Amino acid sequence: MLRAAGCFYIAFSGGEILTRRDFFKIAAYARKLHFALRLFTNATLVNAKAANKIASLHPYCVEVSLYGFRKTHDYVTQVRGSFDRTMGGIKLLRNRGVKVLAKSVLMNCNADEIHMLKLFVGKDIGISWRGVAHLISPCDDGNKRPLSLRVDNDMFYDYLHRKVATKGVSSPLIKSFNRRRKLNEPLCGAGFLNCSVTPYGEFNPCVQIKFKNNDLRHNEAIRIWREHKGFKELRRLRIKDRVECRDCRDMKYCFVCPGIVLLETGSLTARLQESCRQAGIFRKASYEAIHEHQDRDSRR
Ligand code: SF4
Repeated sequence: MLRAAGCFYIAFSGGEILTRRDFFKIAAYARKLHFALRLFTNATLVNAKAANKIASLHPYCVEVSLYGFRKTHDYVTQVRGSFDRTMGGIKLLRNRGVKVLAKSVLMNCNADEIHMLKLFVGKDIGISWRGVAHLISPCDDGNKRPLSLRVDNDMFYDYLHRKVATKGVSSPLIKSFNRRRKLNEPLCGAGFLNCSVTPYGEFNPCVQIKFKNNDLRHNEAIRIWREHKGFKELRRLRIKDRVECRDCRDMKYCFVCPGIVLLETGSLTARLQESCRQAGIFRKASYEAIHEHQDRDSRR
């Protein structure tokens, strides 16, 4: 169905994809159908044999999460030695010409090393940096335990200020935010551009927004996509339906993931307090960093 619908790529994600014994069988089938593959893995199970198999799939890219340098990374994964194993896996893939991208999540335990980590990944490991997620999500069951890892105001300000200060208005972060959202835009690409299939065959708009009565063993995917009440409702929603956000002066600095909003508040369109906090800090940090950048330029 995905091929017939014109789907371009499939991202395989976990848990950890390489713990599935049939992973390579599934991935090879997807390649046979000419999908571009994005593989999300922690790379700890990538030995020479697995690296050869991954290389033979010719994936579009392999994305690996790095949470910090050795001590921090192992603290976050709670697995001693995981940083070294991840690095080993990355190098095996890189040496076989696989495009590997590192990515991270901004947390209070890694905020002071994330900029150095990005430099390390580029210069010492020779792979590209995919980016940093700022908005930590609750667990899939709604448990809010991971939210204790969110950065405080000062940490977030320092992180953004440093990120924007070097490049000023041409900073990719500024460019990405400096766009006024139109009130008639969809909330996000879930259910429009993207869909997600769980290991149990449940067909959803994304990994965060989960519906019921969407079992692919009993329904065709295209039917669920077109006719499921949840998909139809999601496609009807627009930015203007985020009623509390309509007149917000920080909207252009605000990153909101409707899936995270749903997990935290129970509604797809509610105002997310964490996004408000981050948007206010982002506005302040970007103004100040840009002015400092301009002052430096004018003194030259
Ligand atoms: S979540 Fe907060 S900052 Fe973002 S648009 Fe809504 S009110 Fe504004």
